[in-house]
Amino acid sequence: MLCPLCNGLDRVFPLCPNCEEILEDAGMLENFFAPYNPYLAQEILEASNNANHDECIHLFSCPKCGYDQRLAIKKIDT
Ligand SMILES: [Zn+2]
Ligand SMILES: [Zn+2]
Repeated sequence: MLCPLCNGLDRVFPLCPNCEEILEDAGMLENFFAPYNPYLAQEILEASNNANHDECIHLFSCPKCGYDQRLAIKKIDT
């Protein structure tokens, strides 16, 4: 099982609810936060323990207003 976004096989373009700008994929949540904030990393760890292992959680953020959103990306079989 692999995540199509992490592996460059697919892309998604969610829109910002505030300004309808296309949100940028900031990558896997773990990669994004872990090096900077141990407290958040713990929260993410707990979240991913509860999460479906068939999914990869990505963080998308709006380049315009800073809005961010987590999206669970379904992993695919190879
Ligand atoms: Zn991924
Ligand atoms: Zn925005």
